[in-house]
Amino acid sequence: MFKTEYAKKVYEATEAKNAGQDEYLQAVKEVLLSLEPVVEQNPVLQKKGILERIVEPERQLMFRVTWVDDNGNVQVNRGYRIQFNSAIGPYKGGIRFHPSVNISVIKFLGFEQIFKNSLTGLAMGGGKGGSDFDPKGKSDEEIMRFCQAFMTELAKHIGSDTDVPAGDIGVGGREIGYLFGQYKRLQNVFTGVLTGKGLDFGGSLARTEATGYGLCYLTEEMLNCMKNDSFKGKTVVISGSGNVAIYACQKATQLGGKVVAMSDSNGYIYDPNGINLDVVKQLKEVERARICEYVNRVEGAEYHEGCRNIWGIKCDVALPCATQNELDGDAAKKLIANGVIAVAEGANMPSTPEAVEALQAAGVLFAPAKAANAGGVAVSGLEMSQNSMRYDWTFEEVDGKLQGIMKNIFHNIYDAAEKYGVAGDLVAGANIAGFEKVSNAMLAEGIIY
Ligand code: NDP
Repeated sequence: MFKTEYAKKVYEATEAKNAGQDEYLQAVKEVLLSLEPVVEQNPVLQKKGILERIVEPERQLMFRVTWVDDNGNVQVNRGYRIQFNSAIGPYKGGIRFHPSVNISVIKFLGFEQIFKNSLTGLAMGGGKGGSDFDPKGKSDEEIMRFCQAFMTELAKHIGSDTDVPAGDIGVGGREIGYLFGQYKRLQNVFTGVLTGKGLDFGGSLARTEATGYGLCYLTEEMLNCMKNDSFKGKTVVISGSGNVAIYACQKATQLGGKVVAMSDSNGYIYDPNGINLDVVKQLKEVERARICEYVNRVEGAEYHEGCRNIWGIKCDVALPCATQNELDGDAAKKLIANGVIAVAEGANMPSTPEAVEALQAAGVLFAPAKAANAGGVAVSGLEMSQNSMRYDWTFEEVDGKLQGIMKNIFHNIYDAAEKYGVAGDLVAGANIAGFEKVSNAMLAEGIIY
């Protein structure tokens, strides 16, 4: 619980103002708790109201998205864009299309994004957006019409120097293409207003791979520096089978690990021989099929309905890459009992507070999302740089920069934890290191809101 009056007061006020926004309050509490040593040592933060300001989005947009389905029926969804903090650069953060999207989910993601973007060392503020639209089972035409309707409103509020959205759950290359096409049509301008674009119209090489690869680069550095170890010979479990999970699987395998399980929202596959990623890619990237189909194509693999038990599989490294709160206290206990060495978060806030506490108490290396999955937004930042220069880097150049960024993030968060007396606590280290740059900028810019 809170030890400083200031952090406690700010949390209680946030709770009172945002009743029922559970995910958002969970994220705020976790960050404020770990910033307590920083506010204690820097009274100017309280004097200038930095915490009160950082938990309040600069702008929150909520809008109606009306579109017509293939049967001619009018459909209505809700769209969101939270422009959370622009102290260190234009708002930047993904767009999520999933039925579970609501104001709380988008605010938690936008809040986390502030610190994550700061950790990359690039000039990006924090934002997030999305809709409760469910892309599952929709035709390509319906996806296109929805994306166009969503962008028709969003276009009024974004721009390459104002707010640069990207993909997230349910928004991949196809959706970014339709969103970009509609923005260009409406504004009559070809600009780097979205990242994750196709390579033919301003996308960056290695953006598709960036989050999963970055997750493994940071995990490798963490294993190396904190345990004098590596992925080599390790058994790895990865939840999800989307963009982050697929490229985490690829890089973990390249680094010498053996990935034995992956999942989707219906269930998980266990393949003791090591996941055949070509089959997963064919199913998920080409056919948009369910993960259960894997066992019909690969001998010796098993499918289990429901995804929670994936954490009961014995592994050395666990990489949750699906969604928020997918790894709870019980799952953490199973991982610990099976001798897990490291857990690194590919998804945003996949571990519940109980899980984080249990893993840290058991001495498991734990890399929090805002550091571990920052590779995606880092390469999005590099895509913005390339768009501004109207020049493209090679895959190797981008991948090399990504590796450098992830190693730097690890060392910055490790050092920040040590500096504030919580050595080895990378959750606190990530919050502190991300916060320092943003709060310095907010102090320097004056009280402008
Ligand atoms: P995708 O949509 O490509 O994949 C999401 C995966 O997670 C799918 O396998 C999906 O299964 C599964 N999933 C989604 N919701 C649930 C749920 N409620 N329960 C169980 N499984 C679920 O998304 P991404 O891979 O892009 O994103 C995954 C996570 O990583 C998210 O938390 C996202 O915010 C985070 N992230 C992504 C970045 C990126 O660059 N893409 C960058 C940083 C973070 P199904 O197909 O059945 O829905």
